[in-house]
Amino acid sequence: MSLKRHLQKARKDKKAIGQFNFSTLDQLQAILSSSVSLNIPVIVGTSVKEATFFGMAEAATLVGYYQKKGAKIYLNLDHGRDIETVKKAIDVGYNMVHFDGSKMDFEANIKDTKRVVSYAHKKGILVEGEVGYVPGQSAMNKCDLPDVDVVAIEDVVCFVKNTNVDLIALPFGSVHGIYSQAPKIKFKFLKDVSRIKPFLVLHGGSGVKDDDIKKAIKLGITKINVNTELRMAWRDGLKQSLKSSEYAPYSLLNKSRSNVESRVKEKLLIFW
Ligand SMILES: [Zn+2]
Repeated sequence: MSLKRHLQKARKDKKAIGQFNFSTLDQLQAILSSSVSLNIPVIVGTSVKEATFFGMAEAATLVGYYQKKGAKIYLNLDHGRDIETVKKAIDVGYNMVHFDGSKMDFEANIKDTKRVVSYAHKKGILVEGEVGYVPGQSAMNKCDLPDVDVVAIEDVVCFVKNTNVDLIALPFGSVHGIYSQAPKIKFKFLKDVSRIKPFLVLHGGSGVKDDDIKKAIKLGITKINVNTELRMAWRDGLKQSLKSSEYAPYSLLNKSRSNVESRVKEKLLIFW
Protein backbone atom coordinates (compact mmCIF):
# COMPACT_ATOMS: atom_id res chain seq x y z
CA MET A 1 0.00 0.00 0.00
CA SER A 2 1.31 3.44 -0.88
CA LEU A 3 2.11 6.08 1.73
CA LYS A 4 -0.75 8.19 0.36
CA ARG A 5 -3.22 5.36 0.97
CA HIS A 6 -1.93 4.88 4.51
CA LEU A 7 -2.39 8.60 5.16
CA GLN A 8 -5.91 8.56 3.72
CA LYS A 9 -6.84 5.57 5.83
CA ALA A 10 -5.29 7.12 8.94
CA ARG A 11 -7.27 10.32 8.48
CA LYS A 12 -10.51 8.39 7.93
CA ASP A 13 -9.94 6.23 11.03
CA LYS A 14 -8.76 9.21 13.14
CA LYS A 15 -5.25 7.89 13.59
CA ALA A 16 -1.85 9.42 12.89
CA ILE A 17 1.30 8.08 11.31
CA GLY A 18 4.44 8.73 13.34
CA GLN A 19 7.56 10.13 11.75
CA PHE A 20 10.69 9.16 13.64
CA ASN A 21 14.08 10.53 12.65
CA PHE A 22 17.34 8.61 12.50
CA SER A 23 20.96 9.17 11.63
CA THR A 24 22.42 5.77 12.54
CA LEU A 25 21.59 2.24 11.44
CA ASP A 26 20.67 1.02 14.92
CA GLN A 27 18.06 3.80 15.22
CA LEU A 28 16.58 2.87 11.83
CA GLN A 29 16.48 -0.82 12.82
CA ALA A 30 14.80 0.06 16.11
CA ILE A 31 12.05 2.07 14.36
CA LEU A 32 11.57 -0.67 11.75
CA SER A 33 11.27 -3.40 14.34
CA SER A 34 8.70 -1.43 16.39
CA SER A 35 6.61 -0.93 13.26
CA VAL A 36 6.85 -4.56 12.17
CA SER A 37 6.07 -6.01 15.58
CA LEU A 38 2.97 -3.81 16.03
CA ASN A 39 2.03 -3.95 12.33
CA ILE A 40 1.64 -0.15 12.20
CA PRO A 41 3.03 1.92 9.29
CA VAL A 42 5.81 4.42 10.03
CA ILE A 43 7.60 7.24 8.31
CA VAL A 44 11.31 7.49 8.97
CA GLY A 45 12.82 10.91 8.56
CA THR A 46 16.23 12.39 8.01
CA SER A 47 16.88 16.08 8.45
CA VAL A 48 19.50 17.42 6.06
CA LYS A 49 22.20 16.99 8.74
CA GLU A 50 21.03 13.46 9.52
CA ALA A 51 20.93 12.62 5.81
CA THR A 52 24.44 14.00 5.35
CA PHE A 53 25.73 11.81 8.17
CA PHE A 54 23.96 8.61 7.05
CA GLY A 55 24.04 9.16 3.29
CA MET A 56 20.89 9.97 1.35
CA ALA A 57 21.26 7.18 -1.19
CA GLU A 58 22.13 4.72 1.60
CA ALA A 59 18.99 5.69 3.55
CA ALA A 60 16.78 5.33 0.46
CA THR A 61 18.36 2.01 -0.52
CA LEU A 62 17.90 0.48 2.93
CA VAL A 63 14.32 1.66 3.32
CA GLY A 64 13.60 0.36 -0.20
CA TYR A 65 15.05 -3.00 0.84
CA TYR A 66 12.77 -3.17 3.91
CA GLN A 67 9.79 -2.22 1.75
CA LYS A 68 10.55 -5.08 -0.65
CA LYS A 69 10.47 -7.39 2.34
CA GLY A 70 6.95 -6.14 3.10
CA ALA A 71 7.58 -3.52 5.79
CA LYS A 72 5.26 -0.50 5.91
CA ILE A 73 8.08 1.99 6.25
CA TYR A 74 8.46 5.19 4.21
CA LEU A 75 11.30 7.69 3.97
CA ASN A 76 10.93 11.47 4.27
CA LEU A 77 13.44 14.28 3.96
CA ASP A 78 12.68 16.45 6.99
CA HIS A 79 12.96 20.27 6.73
CA GLY A 80 14.62 20.45 3.31
CA ARG A 81 15.29 24.16 2.88
CA ASP A 82 16.65 24.37 -0.65
CA ILE A 83 15.28 22.99 -3.87
CA GLU A 84 18.49 21.22 -4.92
CA THR A 85 18.67 19.11 -1.73
CA VAL A 86 15.01 18.21 -1.99
CA LYS A 87 15.40 17.21 -5.65
CA LYS A 88 18.36 15.03 -4.72
CA ALA A 89 16.27 13.18 -2.12
CA ILE A 90 13.53 12.61 -4.71
CA ASP A 91 16.07 11.36 -7.25
CA VAL A 92 17.64 8.82 -4.89
CA GLY A 93 14.26 7.35 -3.92
CA TYR A 94 12.79 9.12 -0.88
CA ASN A 95 9.03 8.45 -0.65
CA MET A 96 8.16 11.99 0.38
CA VAL A 97 9.89 15.30 0.97
CA HIS A 98 9.21 18.13 3.36
CA PHE A 99 10.07 21.45 1.78
CA ASP A 100 10.33 24.00 4.57
CA GLY A 101 10.05 27.50 3.18
CA SER A 102 8.64 28.84 6.45
CA LYS A 103 11.58 31.17 6.98
CA MET A 104 11.14 32.70 3.52
CA ASP A 105 8.62 35.40 2.81
CA PHE A 106 5.17 34.08 2.00
CA GLU A 107 5.27 34.66 -1.78
CA ALA A 108 8.73 33.09 -2.15
CA ASN A 109 7.60 30.11 -0.06
CA ILE A 110 4.66 29.59 -2.42
CA LYS A 111 6.86 29.93 -5.51
CA ASP A 112 9.53 27.45 -4.37
CA THR A 113 7.08 24.97 -2.86
CA LYS A 114 5.20 24.98 -6.17
CA ARG A 115 8.41 24.11 -8.02
CA VAL A 116 9.11 21.24 -5.60
CA VAL A 117 5.55 19.92 -5.98
CA SER A 118 5.71 19.96 -9.76
CA TYR A 119 9.05 18.07 -9.75
CA ALA A 120 7.91 15.58 -7.07
CA HIS A 121 4.46 14.84 -8.46
CA LYS A 122 5.91 13.85 -11.84
CA LYS A 123 7.65 11.04 -9.96
CA GLY A 124 4.72 10.20 -7.69
CA ILE A 125 6.42 11.63 -4.58
CA LEU A 126 4.41 13.37 -1.86
CA VAL A 127 5.32 16.87 -0.68
CA GLU A 128 4.87 18.41 2.75
CA GLY A 129 4.85 22.19 2.75
CA GLU A 130 5.12 24.51 5.72
CA VAL A 131 3.55 27.85 6.54
CA GLY A 132 4.38 29.67 9.76
CA TYR A 133 7.50 28.79 11.64
CA VAL A 134 7.56 25.98 14.25
CA PRO A 135 10.34 27.21 16.56
CA GLY A 136 12.95 25.43 18.65
CA GLN A 137 15.52 22.74 17.99
CA SER A 138 15.43 18.98 18.45
CA ALA A 139 17.36 19.13 21.71
CA MET A 140 16.76 19.29 25.42
CA ASN A 141 16.21 22.89 26.53
CA LYS A 142 15.98 24.33 30.00
CA CYS A 143 14.81 27.75 28.84
CA ASP A 144 11.21 28.88 28.50
CA LEU A 145 9.03 27.84 25.60
CA PRO A 146 9.59 30.02 22.54
CA ASP A 147 6.61 31.88 21.10
CA VAL A 148 4.76 30.15 18.31
CA ASP A 149 3.74 31.96 15.11
CA VAL A 150 0.14 32.77 14.44
CA VAL A 151 -0.97 32.07 10.89
CA ALA A 152 -4.18 33.33 9.35
CA ILE A 153 -6.49 30.66 7.96
CA GLU A 154 -6.78 32.65 4.70
CA ASP A 155 -3.00 32.38 4.25
CA VAL A 156 -3.14 28.61 4.75
CA VAL A 157 -5.95 28.31 2.21
CA CYS A 158 -4.07 30.53 -0.25
CA PHE A 159 -0.86 28.50 0.18
CA VAL A 160 -2.65 25.19 -0.37
CA LYS A 161 -4.52 26.46 -3.42
CA ASN A 162 -1.37 27.78 -5.05
CA THR A 163 1.04 24.96 -4.25
CA ASN A 164 -1.10 21.80 -4.27
CA VAL A 165 0.95 20.24 -1.42
CA ASP A 166 -0.08 16.81 -0.15
CA LEU A 167 0.71 17.49 3.51
CA ILE A 168 1.12 20.69 5.46
CA ALA A 169 3.02 21.56 8.63
CA LEU A 170 1.53 24.46 10.56
CA PRO A 171 2.29 26.11 13.92
CA PHE A 172 -0.18 24.18 16.07
CA GLY A 173 1.49 25.30 19.29
CA SER A 174 4.11 22.55 19.60
CA VAL A 175 7.82 23.36 19.38
CA HIS A 176 10.94 21.43 18.36
CA GLY A 177 12.75 20.06 21.40
CA ILE A 178 11.73 19.50 25.00
CA TYR A 179 11.24 22.39 27.41
CA SER A 180 10.57 22.76 31.09
CA GLN A 181 6.84 23.21 30.42
CA ALA A 182 4.74 21.15 27.98
CA PRO A 183 3.62 23.22 24.97
CA LYS A 184 -0.08 23.98 24.57
CA ILE A 185 -1.75 22.85 21.37
CA LYS A 186 -3.94 25.48 19.66
CA PHE A 187 -7.03 23.33 19.28
CA LYS A 188 -9.21 26.16 17.97
CA PHE A 189 -6.77 26.84 15.12
CA LEU A 190 -6.50 23.11 14.44
CA LYS A 191 -10.28 22.79 14.23
CA ASP A 192 -10.45 25.76 11.88
CA VAL A 193 -7.92 24.34 9.42
CA SER A 194 -9.05 20.74 9.64
CA ARG A 195 -11.24 21.06 6.54
CA ILE A 196 -8.38 21.77 4.14
CA LYS A 197 -7.36 19.01 1.75
CA PRO A 198 -3.69 18.33 2.67
CA PHE A 199 -2.91 16.02 5.59
CA LEU A 200 -2.05 18.01 8.71
CA VAL A 201 1.37 17.50 10.26
CA LEU A 202 2.33 18.21 13.86
CA HIS A 203 6.04 18.91 14.25
CA GLY A 204 7.73 18.86 17.64
CA GLY A 205 5.75 15.86 18.92
CA SER A 206 8.30 15.34 21.73
CA GLY A 207 7.16 16.73 25.06
CA VAL A 208 3.48 17.24 24.12
CA LYS A 209 1.11 15.61 26.64
CA ASP A 210 -0.35 12.27 25.48
CA ASP A 211 -3.92 13.46 25.99
CA ASP A 212 -3.26 16.55 23.86
CA ILE A 213 -1.77 14.34 21.14
CA LYS A 214 -4.86 12.11 21.19
CA LYS A 215 -7.18 15.11 21.01
CA ALA A 216 -5.16 16.61 18.15
CA ILE A 217 -5.42 13.36 16.19
CA LYS A 218 -9.21 13.31 16.70
CA LEU A 219 -9.33 16.85 15.31
CA GLY A 220 -7.42 15.95 12.15
CA ILE A 221 -3.66 15.63 12.72
CA THR A 222 -2.55 12.77 10.45
CA LYS A 223 1.24 12.80 10.83
CA ILE A 224 3.30 13.50 13.94
CA ASN A 225 7.05 14.08 13.97
CA VAL A 226 9.10 12.91 16.93
CA ASN A 227 12.83 13.32 17.20
CA THR A 228 14.16 14.69 20.51
CA GLU A 229 12.65 11.97 22.70
CA LEU A 230 14.29 9.29 20.55
CA ARG A 231 17.65 11.04 20.63
CA MET A 232 17.44 11.16 24.42
CA ALA A 233 16.51 7.47 24.65
CA TRP A 234 19.43 6.61 22.36
CA ARG A 235 21.87 8.71 24.35
CA ASP A 236 20.71 7.30 27.71
CA GLY A 237 21.24 3.77 26.40
CA LEU A 238 24.73 4.56 25.23
CA LYS A 239 25.65 6.26 28.49
CA GLN A 240 24.55 3.20 30.38
CA SER A 241 26.56 0.88 28.10
CA LEU A 242 29.68 3.00 28.40
CA LYS A 243 29.76 2.34 32.14
CA SER A 244 30.79 -1.27 31.35
CA SER A 245 34.24 -2.25 30.04
CA GLU A 246 32.61 -3.37 26.78
CA TYR A 247 34.14 -2.12 23.54
CA ALA A 248 32.37 -4.05 20.78
CA PRO A 249 30.04 -1.63 18.98
CA TYR A 250 27.29 -4.25 18.73
CA SER A 251 27.30 -4.58 22.51
CA LEU A 252 27.63 -0.87 23.17
CA LEU A 253 24.72 0.03 20.87
CA ASN A 254 22.34 -2.69 22.03
CA LYS A 255 20.85 -0.66 24.86
CA SER A 256 20.44 2.42 22.63
CA ARG A 257 18.62 0.33 20.08
CA SER A 258 16.26 -1.28 22.57
CA ASN A 259 15.59 2.10 24.24
CA VAL A 260 14.61 3.65 20.91
CA GLU A 261 12.49 0.63 20.05
CA SER A 262 10.46 0.87 23.26
CA ARG A 263 9.99 4.62 22.91
CA VAL A 264 8.76 4.26 19.30
CA LYS A 265 6.36 1.50 20.35
CA GLU A 266 4.90 3.72 23.09
CA LYS A 267 4.36 6.51 20.57
CA LEU A 268 2.84 4.23 17.93
CA LEU A 269 0.31 2.93 20.43
CA ILE A 270 -0.75 6.50 21.23
CA PHE A 271 -0.88 7.61 17.59
CA TRP A 272 -2.57 4.56 16.03
ZN1 LIG B 1 10.10 19.72 12.39
